[in-house]
Amino acid sequence: LGSKIVPSKCCAKVREMETQERILQKPLIDFHGIDEELVQKMVYDALVWSSLHGLVVGDKSVQRSGKVPGVGLVHAPFALLPMAFPESQWNLACEVAPIFNELIDRVSLDGKFLQDALSRTKKVDAFTSGLLDIHSKMLEINKKEEIRLGLHRSDYMLDEQTKLLLQIELNTISASFPGLGCRVSELHRSLLNYHGEHIGLDPRRIPGNTSVDKFAEALAKAWTEHNRPRALVMVVVQPEECNMYDQHWLCAALKDRHNVTTIRKTLAEIDKEGEILPDGTLLVGGQEISVVYFRAGYAPTDYPSEAEWRARLLMEQSSAVKCPSISYHLAGTKKIQQELAKPNMLERFLENKEDISKLQKCFAGLWSLEDSDIIKKAIERPELFVMKPQREGGGNNFYGDDVRTNLVRLQKEGTQEDAAYILMQRIFPTVSPTILVREGICHKDHAISELGVYGAYLRNKEKVIVNEQCGYLMRTKVSSSNEGGVAAGFAVLDSIYLS
Ligand code: ADP
Ligand code: MG
Ligand code: MG
Repeated sequence: LGSKIVPSKCCAKVREMETQERILQKPLIDFHGIDEELVQKMVYDALVWSSLHGLVVGDKSVQRSGKVPGVGLVHAPFALLPMAFPESQWNLACEVAPIFNELIDRVSLDGKFLQDALSRTKKVDAFTSGLLDIHSKMLEINKKEEIRLGLHRSDYMLDEQTKLLLQIELNTISASFPGLGCRVSELHRSLLNYHGEHIGLDPRRIPGNTSVDKFAEALAKAWTEHNRPRALVMVVVQPEECNMYDQHWLCAALKDRHNVTTIRKTLAEIDKEGEILPDGTLLVGGQEISVVYFRAGYAPTDYPSEAEWRARLLMEQSSAVKCPSISYHLAGTKKIQQELAKPNMLERFLENKEDISKLQKCFAGLWSLEDSDIIKKAIERPELFVMKPQREGGGNNFYGDDVRTNLVRLQKEGTQEDAAYILMQRIFPTVSPTILVREGICHKDHAISELGVYGAYLRNKEKVIVNEQCGYLMRTKVSSSNEGGVAAGFAVLDSIYLS
């Protein structure tokens, strides 16, 4: 690939904006203009740094790399240098983190709202229906979650034309990369400490990133609130996980800083080994669990049989703290995101007018497919929309012509299947020259970025114990790719350089 620039095929608008940008303002730092010898030196230093500091993932080409730690490691894909990001927008993203946390908590308590908003989706989406069934069962037995823990990541893109910070989605389950995200900030700071002067960059303009420590602290505090000294934190994992080191960073912080022990179990193992005592205590393999932290269970493929669903229900019925509870999980679905963006909806859940208006400003256009005017518009101009099902983990959305094809198909069929999707305004961030490093090879390309801001929320009954912004993750992907996704192989981990 080398420095070949892949032409942006997503739409002419991006390119048009890109040219405008070049004429009006040169990029803050033209990474492609950096002397090639220096680039190669920095790439080498970065590869060494990543290997020495655990900025690593399992190498998919090595058979046991997703199962056995220490086998088949490769550095995580990263951007060589941090991406410029306006300080005011960064501050805004940090400011809204605790408000979004509070919103999720309030929404999670309104069982009827969740059930009603997802009732049409339930009929056509077996996975969401499975989650809603567990939720209904909890409503029936009037299950109360007194200790509630949320470890979230709210993702944003900066719309180039309007300069607005627009939310892509808020992840309430399995928000990934709290462990590796802060490593990337450290990597960039280390590179700038050595080479920053040559390229005119100041390492102090990379914001501190404490995601792993803050998440570990919130987990430890939840464990403390649960108050069972011998109990463990259980990480629910997929049978094979190439991103295990991200998770291990968190478990190591829990152990080292808080002396809390974790175990890793798959849903199938939990089904085999799990039981609930009459007082609600969750035991897995005979060991008491006080906090269940999900890094699996967000996708239909995580539930290949009834056993996995039984395990999910078992945990939900127990008195262990669930991160997330079934209500938090549902509150993070795209359908609920779309419902919350309707006029006057936030007022149902939040009181503070300023808070409400701050959140509303982050909402992009979001529509249900029941809206026939929007369907018409999206069929005419599909490049301006993204069509999303109720799925997590990347690679599930439709773009461009696929939006049109699917909308036309749904219209023709006239079934209820439209309820599986929402439509979202497509956001067009600034395209910047970037240097991406993957498998030890550096590529120069044009890229767009998505900022994720972590947030932790912990409460016990009326007492809010934690509600804060917890660091960030920038993901940068070549502008010709619709989705990106670090694990999927299009995006790289990145950090930010305040401009
Ligand atoms: P998931 O839960 O699978 O991560 P997302 O809503 O985050 O679903 O979509 C996946 C990816 O698709 C995002 O990371 C982003 O790159 C792209 N994307 C999603 N929504 C938009 C949008 N409105 N405009 C532009 N790109 C989007
Ligand atoms: Mg998601
Ligand atoms: Mg996402």
